Amino acid sequence: MKKNRKNKNDNTQFFSRPFFAFLLMAAVMMGCGGAEEGEVAAEEEVFDEPTAVEEEEPAAELWNYENANWEEIENTDCATNVQSPVNIIPDDAIPALLDDIEYNYEPFPMTIVDNGHTIQAYGAENSTIVLDEKDYKFLQLHFHAPSEHAVEGEHFPMEMHLVHQEVGSDDLVVLGIFIEEAEEVNPFLEKIFAELPDEEGVPVETEVEITLSDFIPPSQKYYTYIGSLTTPPCTVGVNWILFEEAIPASAEQIAQFKALYSNTARPLQELENRRVFTTME
Ligand SMILES: [Zn+2]
Repeated sequence: MKKNRKNKNDNTQFFSRPFFAFLLMAAVMMGCGGAEEGEVAAEEEVFDEPTAVEEEEPAAELWNYENANWEEIENTDCATNVQSPVNIIPDDAIPALLDDIEYNYEPFPMTIVDNGHTIQAYGAENSTIVLDEKDYKFLQLHFHAPSEHAVEGEHFPMEMHLVHQEVGSDDLVVLGIFIEEAEEVNPFLEKIFAELPDEEGVPVETEVEITLSDFIPPSQKYYTYIGSLTTPPCTVGVNWILFEEAIPASAEQIAQFKALYSNTARPLQELENRRVFTTME
């Protein structure tokens, strides 16, 4: 570990360092949608023991969405009280002078995998964001249906997660983007959905170039809070950025994804004493 984690909730303190190394590794490999080995090999210098994940990552068969009592899974953060997703109540969000997000995204040929829990795309060499003067490298994107986060208790048909990790650190920022049903086909989502793998667990390297900024909503108004990954190991300390504006997808596109994965939203978690902040108008 090159750098101490900052702004972490105290719930992380009871983990030993080696175990924490495992959790972080698993976190990066899994994102919040699960992943198989290999796709983030470039990140391995971050870790002390790159093989630990092989032994200790919660096995895919240990969790599913039919029985989401993940707090009973050992060696995870799932039972802590600072989890995600949460219900966003806009009137309760505290307006704050939040940084604009700087996007340094470049087109890259995506690799795509059906990891048994979702569809995940990755493969960027150089795609980063800058937030609070820190650089975060894009790791992977994936989808949930319905949305995991809710607004005023209402869910969207889908939610897209763009997982980023701070350069030289383990800190994670996830950009959460709601997807709403619209008349038109979303041409950028179509690039991904046209390449859905036939076989589960087998990453497919494509020649299809995607640019992550194509998925970012025009309005930069967002909500932010500190939560967790939404799949085991439910790693805490994740900086969530949820855009208020949804991006469109056609009913056919949403149905296409749901034919593979529906009901892949973790139940809403209590916000308890956490605060949600939002950008000033
Ligand atoms: Zn996710």
